[in-house]
Amino acid sequence: MKFVYDFPEGNKDLRGLLGGKGANLAEMTNLGLPVPPGFTITTEACKVYLDTGKEPAALRDEVSAHLDALESRMGKKLGQPDDPLLVSVRSGAKFSMPGMMDTVLNVGLSDASVAGLAAQAGDERFAWDSYRRLIQMFGATVLGVGAQLFEEALEEAKERKQAATDVDLEAGDLKKLVTRFKQIVSQEAGRDFPQDPREQMDLAICSVFESWNTERAKLYRRQERIPGDLGTAVNICSMVFGNLGPDSGTGVAFTRDPASGHQGVYGDYLQNAQGEDVVAGIRNTVALADLETIDKKSYDQLLQIMETLETHYRDLCDIEFTIERGRLWMLQTRVGKRTAGAAFRIATQLVDQGLIDEAEALQRVNGAQLAQLMFPRFDDDAKRDLLGRGIAASPGAAVGKAVFDSYTAVKWSRSGEQVILIRRETNPDDLNGMIAANGILTSRGGKTSHAAVVARGMGKTCVCGAEELEVDTKSRRMTAPGGVVVEEGDVVSIDGSTGKVYLGEVPVVPSPVVEYFEGRMHAGADDADELVEAVHRIMAYADRRRRLRVRANADNAEDALRARRFGAQGIGLCRTEHMFLGERRTLVEKLVLADTDDERVNALEALMPLQKKDFIELFEAMDGLPVTVRLLDPPLHEFLPDITELSVRVALAEARKDHNENDLRLLQAVHKLHEQNPMLGLRGVRLGLVIPGLFAMQVRAIAEAAAERKNAKGDPRAEIMIPLVGTVQELEIVRDEAELVIAEVEKARGVRLKLALGTMIELPRAALTAGQIAEAAEFFSFGTNDLTQTVWGFSRDDVEASFFTAYLEKGIFGVSPFETIDRDGVGALVKSAVEAGRATRPGLKMGVCGEHGGDPESVHFFHEIGLDYVSCSPFRIPVARLEAGRAAALSSGSDSR
Ligand code: PEP
Ligand code: MG
Repeated sequence: MKFVYDFPEGNKDLRGLLGGKGANLAEMTNLGLPVPPGFTITTEACKVYLDTGKEPAALRDEVSAHLDALESRMGKKLGQPDDPLLVSVRSGAKFSMPGMMDTVLNVGLSDASVAGLAAQAGDERFAWDSYRRLIQMFGATVLGVGAQLFEEALEEAKERKQAATDVDLEAGDLKKLVTRFKQIVSQEAGRDFPQDPREQMDLAICSVFESWNTERAKLYRRQERIPGDLGTAVNICSMVFGNLGPDSGTGVAFTRDPASGHQGVYGDYLQNAQGEDVVAGIRNTVALADLETIDKKSYDQLLQIMETLETHYRDLCDIEFTIERGRLWMLQTRVGKRTAGAAFRIATQLVDQGLIDEAEALQRVNGAQLAQLMFPRFDDDAKRDLLGRGIAASPGAAVGKAVFDSYTAVKWSRSGEQVILIRRETNPDDLNGMIAANGILTSRGGKTSHAAVVARGMGKTCVCGAEELEVDTKSRRMTAPGGVVVEEGDVVSIDGSTGKVYLGEVPVVPSPVVEYFEGRMHAGADDADELVEAVHRIMAYADRRRRLRVRANADNAEDALRARRFGAQGIGLCRTEHMFLGERRTLVEKLVLADTDDERVNALEALMPLQKKDFIELFEAMDGLPVTVRLLDPPLHEFLPDITELSVRVALAEARKDHNENDLRLLQAVHKLHEQNPMLGLRGVRLGLVIPGLFAMQVRAIAEAAAERKNAKGDPRAEIMIPLVGTVQELEIVRDEAELVIAEVEKARGVRLKLALGTMIELPRAALTAGQIAEAAEFFSFGTNDLTQTVWGFSRDDVEASFFTAYLEKGIFGVSPFETIDRDGVGALVKSAVEAGRATRPGLKMGVCGEHGGDPESVHFFHEIGLDYVSCSPFRIPVARLEAGRAAALSSGSDSR
């Protein structure tokens, strides 16, 4: 196996092997762009290292061969005393993990070569500055010395000199600082800073491998759902220097605004600085557009390259570059992260530019982004108290209590508080706090600072670089211009779309995207914003392509109407138990307490007109579209008083000698119905089989409602669904009874109702005998909530709170199987049931109505196995439509990337 690739040997499609950074450096090299020469060590080498604790046997020799080639190309040797070749050693995984892993710059410098570098550059200060940076970075990342020790020493040096920034330190100061840094290393690391350049490089490589498994990297991967076994590549790149004086510098750029998608010149530039300074947000940068006045030639060249990259990648790219004495070098590019709104806008803009087609546009957005766009925004008309403003780095409206450190953010959010994490700047150690917070506010750094990049990646609201707000993390307070002080615990509101920061809680209003789906805002109308326009177009692309139909889980007319506005093509699940609550509970109690047939019939007759009314409303709301009504599912005790409360009430009444006959009977009934495992007890079809007349009453209500709608010239399309069936015999009995009732109603009303009768597949036995069950069912609806619960054997109501966190942390699941379908287990069972069902009854209609019906990844699975529809809650319908369209576009192979 080959472990090392020179840049020209790779290409952008080798991200798995060379990491994103390596693959794109290779691509840029092959495009003829100015990339400093270098090579990439593969993720495979990293995997071997992580598995065995050792580098692969062949690695050192391979690295030597590539280093030799690099040295002859550059005409100098690594660390050569009179003219040292220096390299950067950078991590780079398949998926970008900003700031999570290690990087070491200036590798190759030593006591012997620092003077050579000074002579070559004609700049002694630069050479000593580069050397102190190497020791600092190497000490902290490779040798594990506390980073703050170096920072403190640097601060002391600045104080001694009364220097405002590190740029004011002179060669002599930096030389002393190097001595001090070397002392720190010797004291803290138990070894001297290595003077052998090759040893530096080999140690740095291993340290990058190891940084794959730091706690913060693991946390980031869990958050972003990046598999833990991919490993990182290592890029060895010849150094170019942005810290060689005012004609040098370093910057980051986007080919479009990652927050809005607009084309233009977006990015930050820092004169006389080395790479990490920009992203770390340590010194304040200037806008990229200012580079035009600083260095017009490099600026023009950069814009040219940006255009080349955008056309080549056919997408927004982000770029890191360095200018060394007026010469531009490209250090990195990748398809850039963007906000959800920008993703939609960019996708349609690229279609308009002819760079991508509609099918590909669908791959450039996703359901999670659409869901994010449906969150509310701050109400423009509400009174608000502006504290200050910063850069709108990641959109959204976030409200919460001010906290000034990650520990408090996590602690408070665990106890149910909403918090806003406020920092001067963030670094990778703040990741926990950023995850816990509703929003992030920093007083330093630009759109490309750590806070901004990570927040955008997480879809979290962020305002950064709010310089007018003075953040004092030590005393946990922030001071606004004019002297208003925000203490820890005070509520603040931050608007990531405008960059504004407010004191107190600002009320929110629905997002324009929801207004659009609700039909209150129209694409094409004058007041429609660009985002609504883009969402409208993408939804049309999805609707044109999708094969899956999308239905709603809805039990009342209001939800049904909203679902219809959101694009639902019917109701896939109406849970009738929701119609047995509230005031109707007493009627259910009567049913349970009935001693005689008469009493029971009376109780059912009292329920029947209420049910009928519910169904009429529902069928009217969904006129012309299918409505699947599920007969009663949960155990009856759920409609009765709590056993403990009732026991206490009865006991107290007894003590007062105040007997309440009804309570006593109720208590007896509750005891009789009490089950250890109600989810596995008397519920679903079992209830229908043992409580005479219950299902018949419901079927009659459905049939009567349908007949009424027909007589009113409506078009009711009811489907009757039997829950929790495990064997075809259960279904047959209920079916025979239902058919009789329907025939009676048809006869009495003089109409033909054409009610379909089908079943849920939500028990393993049902799935395994789907071929038999299909004999008696006109449709299947997969209840993947119960199916997941019964296949795994864990209670859906208990386990998420009890041990799922541990399972997620141990990597047993990447995500809860109640959220995303477990393809290998539950999914495999669903797939085999689909095949068996269709084998018995070709054309059998099949859908899914468990929570998975609205989950993006699961929708793709249901598309693949050939279901006819997914059903989900009304608010998730747009997401399901979009993902169904994406799945169809993907499987038709039209994704030309
Ligand atoms: C299911 O089990 O997936 C289902 C939709 O039914 P419920 O969630 O009501 O049990
Ligand atoms: Mg169920």
